[in-house]
Amino acid sequence: MRNLGGMIFVDLRDRTGVLQLVIDPAVAGAKEIGLQDCVCAEGEVKERPVDQKNIKMATGEVELAVRKLEILNKSKVPPFVVESEVKASEELRLRYRYLDLRRAPMQRNIIFRHKVISAMREYLNKNDFVEIETPILTRSMPEGARDYLVPSRLYPEKFYALAQSPQMYKQLLMVAGYERYYQIARCMRDEDPRHDRQPEHTQIDIEMSFVDEDDVFAIAEGMFKHIFNVVLEKDLKTPFDRLKYATAMERYGSDKPDLRFGMEIVDLYDMFKDAGFAPFEGKNEIRGLIVETGSKISRKRLDAMGESAKAAGLGGVFWSKIDETSTGSIGKLIDRRVIERMQLKKGNLIIVVAGDQKVFKFLGQMRTEIAAELQLHSAGFRFLWVTDFPIFELDEKTGAFVASHHIFTQPRPDDIQYLSSDPLRVHGRLYDLVCNGNELASGSIRNHDRKLQERLFAVAGMDAAKYTMLLNALEYGAPPHGGIAPGIDRIVMVLGGLTSLREVIAFPKTTTAQGLLENIPDSVSPEQLKELRLRFDKE
Ligand code: ASP
Repeated sequence: MRNLGGMIFVDLRDRTGVLQLVIDPAVAGAKEIGLQDCVCAEGEVKERPVDQKNIKMATGEVELAVRKLEILNKSKVPPFVVESEVKASEELRLRYRYLDLRRAPMQRNIIFRHKVISAMREYLNKNDFVEIETPILTRSMPEGARDYLVPSRLYPEKFYALAQSPQMYKQLLMVAGYERYYQIARCMRDEDPRHDRQPEHTQIDIEMSFVDEDDVFAIAEGMFKHIFNVVLEKDLKTPFDRLKYATAMERYGSDKPDLRFGMEIVDLYDMFKDAGFAPFEGKNEIRGLIVETGSKISRKRLDAMGESAKAAGLGGVFWSKIDETSTGSIGKLIDRRVIERMQLKKGNLIIVVAGDQKVFKFLGQMRTEIAAELQLHSAGFRFLWVTDFPIFELDEKTGAFVASHHIFTQPRPDDIQYLSSDPLRVHGRLYDLVCNGNELASGSIRNHDRKLQERLFAVAGMDAAKYTMLLNALEYGAPPHGGIAPGIDRIVMVLGGLTSLREVIAFPKTTTAQGLLENIPDSVSPEQLKELRLRFDKE
């Protein structure tokens, strides 16, 4: 509001945008109007005087000359200024989310999300998918995370669990003959707080019968292409690139590599194994990164990298900046032969680590950090399928085999033979969809054979009895099937060019799994506890 004595100017907002009201102070209610009030204004839309036009504003050439004004509801003074550029802390914004959601950027995000979801539905409906809802209250069937449990009032000492995903049910729907299913599904997982993880997230859950990887990929690619077309008005090149997990790890040190920049991990073993440099001696892996504009990276930063390498159980980071005489801890090793073979140029930085398999993950991490620091990313979206993940990994604490992604996955046919003898050698028909370094979707071709599914449970030390529902169903002519579940929150975040999931969820939780608006988690009344026959052990 601007009160210029003779006239009051008000920016009136609704969900479509902002319109300037011009109110003569003589109009009833004009003097009472205040920030964030809900008002109804009637009048005449007029062209603004030439010197008052605002071409930066969509409605900046007109204004409403108000004849009649009704204040439908007054607003208290808001705890922060409700404007596009907000100075309030995120905590305050979340506490008053309904005010935060009035801001133009939040409205844009939430409506953008709606458009993305509509496009997904549109595409899948057109491709003969059936939208089916599955239970939220289900049984505890862990799918890699901890369950949220719901105590039953009617059956004391018994619990429901909140669905971690519709995984079991969507497989049952395939057994039931629905062939192509989807659902906008809420997934609840009680995981330890992590940056950009929400206790509940939404996915577009998809399952299909009589398919292999190519069929699932084609549907997912088609769906993204459609989203790009109708929501972003851009073309998206399909099919997406594919990389096997092992190759992704070796070249990028990550199972979700960002392909908007190069800087692949280079193998320096042959080059340096006999260089007479003690830290490299006897090491299985000597790998590095060549950073084109790396001479900009400070000594202090390189020291910090060295510390992180040590923290990761590696000997350190050895480096050299390429110049007439190359400097750094391995400056002496960078002779003419190395420069020629590695095609090093003045201004490059080479960083090298030596050790075991750990070098890959570490260099992958450095690759990501350096690219962010030097802003090496090209514009646009780089999609990538990562395939052939190992089904099992070794739990370092317990020494047991655990499912690396999820256990409802068919092993690659050639690997089934190693299921008992060498489980780590068993790769699954598993795939992730990655975009710009973010995992957007996960899926697999499933087991429609009960025996094979049971063997997988056994290797992973999982209690097959918990999954009887699925195992029984597989014995009634279950068709071959597979699916995928793209994560909607993350997709909207990445396509919207945002960096926090909380910007694309209307009512998110904090990174520490609290709802500040609802003030949850919270205690409940003694009566409620009594009804559930719950009592707490204070220790
Ligand atoms: N149920 C899996 C998940 O939630 C996705 C899938 O395999 O379809 O990650």
